[in-house]
Amino acid sequence: MTFERSKQMIEEASQVLPGGVNSNFRLGMKPTPLVFERGEGPFLFDVDGNRLIDYYLGMGPMILGHNPASVIEAVRAQLDSGILFAGQTEIEREAARLVCEMVPSAEKVRFSCAGSEVVQAAWRLARASTGRSVIVKFEGHYHGWLDSVLWSVAPPADQHGPLEAPIPVPASAGQDLRAGENTEVLPWNDLELVTQRLERGDVAALIMEPAMCNTSTILPAEGYLQGVRDVCTETGTVLIFDEVITGFRVAPGGAQQLFGVTPDLTTMGKAIANGFPLSCLAGRADLMDLFVTGEVMHGGTYNAQPSTMAALVATLTELAKPETFDALTTQGNRLKEGIARALADAGVQARVEGFPQVFHVGFGVEDPVTDYRSSLQADKARYIRFTEALHYKGVRSLERGAWFMSSTHTADVVDETIEAVVAVAKEI
Ligand code: PMP
Repeated sequence: MTFERSKQMIEEASQVLPGGVNSNFRLGMKPTPLVFERGEGPFLFDVDGNRLIDYYLGMGPMILGHNPASVIEAVRAQLDSGILFAGQTEIEREAARLVCEMVPSAEKVRFSCAGSEVVQAAWRLARASTGRSVIVKFEGHYHGWLDSVLWSVAPPADQHGPLEAPIPVPASAGQDLRAGENTEVLPWNDLELVTQRLERGDVAALIMEPAMCNTSTILPAEGYLQGVRDVCTETGTVLIFDEVITGFRVAPGGAQQLFGVTPDLTTMGKAIANGFPLSCLAGRADLMDLFVTGEVMHGGTYNAQPSTMAALVATLTELAKPETFDALTTQGNRLKEGIARALADAGVQARVEGFPQVFHVGFGVEDPVTDYRSSLQADKARYIRFTEALHYKGVRSLERGAWFMSSTHTADVVDETIEAVVAVAKEI
C-alpha cells in the first residue's frame, strides 16, 4: 500500500490551496493528507487505489456510512424542486418537528450551517435573556473556531495556570483577544468550582460538551451533570450543552437523553444530516423566541437550505429506528473490546474509553482520565505512529485517538479492523 499519488496531489494543490487543504485540522495528517475518490458504506477509496475502513467518518457526521440510499434519494428528490428560496418550505417544518420529538431540550429550533455558528447564537440568547456578559467554558472543550470560543482547547501545560483558576489560552495567531474578555475557563467535572463561580451571580451561560469528545472521550462524573443543572437553575445561569458530536450519536436524543439531564439550550451538528452542512440550535421556547421578541439577531443566507432539511429528515428517520442504534451499539462494543484485547495481548499499556458509537484509545494511560489535564498523560506521539501504521493495513482512524462508528460497520468490517490492530500492535 502506498499513498504516493495523494502526496503528489497535495503538493500540487498547495499552489492554489494553503497546505493543499481546506481546514487546518486536515493539515499534517500521517502518512499524508489523503485525496479521496469516493466513499461507500464504511469504506473510503483514495487516488492511490487503496480501500480504507474509515473511522474518521468526516470527523463524526457519517453515522449512516458514506452513501446511505435513503438520504441520497431524499436529497436528490429535493434538489429537483429547487436549491434555495430565501423563504420557508414544508420540509423545514418537518425537520424541526423531528428534532423537537427526539431531543429532550428541544421545544423550538433554528437551523444554521456549522456548529461554530449556532454556538454564537446560543451565547447571544443567553446574554440577552440574563443581561449578563460572562460565559464559562471548560478546559479541553471545543466549541468552534471563532474568536470568542477558541480558548483553552488544548493549552500547553506551561501556560494553563493553576487547576482551580485556569488561565484562558488563545489557540490561534490573529485571534481578537478582546473577543475573549468575557470568556472564562474552568476545569471540567469539578462541581464545587462551578458552584463557587456561578454563585457570584454574574454568569450568563455555562457551555460544555456533556461528555468530552474533543479531548479524549471523558464521561461526566456521577451526579456532575445534574449538579451543574441544579446550580444553573439556582443562579439563573443558562446551561448550554454543545452536542455537536454527541447529538444523535450517543443516543437518538443525544447525551442529554442518555444521562437524563436537560439543558436550557443545545447546539447540534455533524450526525444530524449525515454529512450535509447543517447545524441546529434547540432549546426552551421562551429563550428561542427571543429571536422574535427580544431583538436577538440570527441570520444566514443558507440556513435551512431545503436539500439539507431533506437530509436531516432522512437521517433522523433512520436513527430513530431501534435497529439502527442496536447495530451501532453492538458493533461499537465489539470494536472497543477487540482493540483493548489486541493492545493488551501485545503488551501495550492503553485505555479504551467512551461510548460504543464514539470512543477514545489512549496509549500509556494508567490513571483515570477525568478532565483535560489528566488526559495529558497519554503518549500522543506513539499513538500517531500507531494510526499511521494502521493506514498501511487499510484502516483510517483519527490521530487524536477518537474512533467514530457508523451503522455500516458490520461484524466483518469490525473483525477486519481488529486484525489490523493486532498486526500493528505487534509492530509497535
Ligand atoms: N462544537 C463541538 C463539540 C465540535 O466538536 C465542533 C466541531 N468539531 C464544533 C462545535 C464546531 O462545529 P463546526 O466545525 O461545524 O463549526
